[in-house]
Amino acid sequence: MTQALVIGAGPAGLMAASELAQAGLAVTIAEAKPSPARKFLMAGKSGLNLTKAEPLDQFLDQIQGPEQLREIVASFGPDAVQNWARGLGQEVFTGSSGRVFPKAMKASPLLRALLAGLDRLGVQMRRGWQWTAIDGRNMVFATPKGNQVLRPDVTVLALGGGSWARLGSDGKWVSILAENGVYCAPFKPSNMGFVVAWSSHMQRHFGAPVKSVRLHAGNVSVNGEFVVSSQGIEGSAIYAVSQEMRDGALLTIDLIPDRSEADVAARLAKLRGKTSLTNHLRKTLKLNPTKIALLQEFARPLPADPNALAKVIKALPIHHQGPRPIDEAISTAGGLPFDALDAGLMIKELPGVFAAGEMLDWDAPTGGYLLTTCLATGRHAGRAAARWAQSQVADARK
Ligand SMILES: Cc1cc2nc3c(=O)[nH]c(=O)nc-3n(C[C@H](O)[C@H](O)[C@H](O)COP(=O)(O)OP(=O)(O)OC[C@H]3O[C@@H](n4cnc5c(N)ncnc54)[C@H](O)[C@@H]3O)c2cc1C
Repeated sequence: MTQALVIGAGPAGLMAASELAQAGLAVTIAEAKPSPARKFLMAGKSGLNLTKAEPLDQFLDQIQGPEQLREIVASFGPDAVQNWARGLGQEVFTGSSGRVFPKAMKASPLLRALLAGLDRLGVQMRRGWQWTAIDGRNMVFATPKGNQVLRPDVTVLALGGGSWARLGSDGKWVSILAENGVYCAPFKPSNMGFVVAWSSHMQRHFGAPVKSVRLHAGNVSVNGEFVVSSQGIEGSAIYAVSQEMRDGALLTIDLIPDRSEADVAARLAKLRGKTSLTNHLRKTLKLNPTKIALLQEFARPLPADPNALAKVIKALPIHHQGPRPIDEAISTAGGLPFDALDAGLMIKELPGVFAAGEMLDWDAPTGGYLLTTCLATGRHAGRAAARWAQSQVADARK
């Protein structure tokens, strides 16, 4: 049988393995960690957001990458991902924001079903096998039993990005590819929190959610919520504007998105009497203590003029000290550029070696776009790798 090797047992690698095995190849997965898909399992801890139920064009517009990537995701988009999960026995539901989750919320039932399916297809899993080098046609691994070598007919790399190294995606594969003449774009954090050097006044708000706000940075505006942490600001709305902030755009927050600036100013202009400004803000605008604290933190001294104060409340500028360390980011941009790949995601410099998932150079917000793109590229690379290996065998027989 034609031997296929998949390196990396995250969602992209498992998807590729499934395609290769269904095409009739003998598949081995090599995974550096003692167990597969650790980041996928971590993703499920806060509710596994598999995809987003929205029109395909809208979905594709959220994924930053070349036309080739759009086409790959279009062939395994939000509907296909939901059907795939159902096919693995996991019913899904769509939340109010259109985000799609498995009913179980976590990743483990889906992963168990996926691994059981691979097992039925005869896929072998080598755990604790860290890919360290390419030696001609051989793939070299550091394993608990010393160095091991595999000589596959075709390989799919699905090694992940450069964050959460403890879960396996340590980005060390970049140097293996460089040793073989394949160069990557530097990793950049994506979907991450930002450091804020808080004054002592903010301490009692650490851990507090800031709900019903509108965030604006660069070309992106989003309604949502975030969290004030001892380190800075994080959470879904921050992640949604994080790429723009990373690239230098100023973050402003509308603390009352459902009231116009004129309405806010008119309310603030009401007779204040002896009431403190904090109480006036609370009474006239129903601002909660954390929102008032943020206002004081970033705009002190607050303007006395209602119009000027309304302007600040509707667009509070947030000064930060840059992104949190890359290892804490939900995902990373950078990695293997698409111009190093052919239409089937084969590395042009390394015939017979394909690549998929977050290790490729694309970017997307949270909201299910990340997993959908990893699954779609894993499926595409797996199918193309199977076709390539089968055509090589057919050529050899001629
Ligand atoms: C906290 C958190 C929450 C998230 N939540 C969501 C979410 O709800 N929805 C969403 O769409 N996305 C989410 N993500 C992102 C998503 O989990 C990743 O984008 C996705 O797992 C990437 O899949 P992958 O298969 O490309 O890589 P990975 O899942 O990173 O898998 C790569 C695998 O390769 C292995 N590997 C690496 N190097 C080697 C080597 N040299 N030799 C052998 N094996 C190696 C690693 O051990 C790992 O198992 C979340 C991420 C985090 C951290």
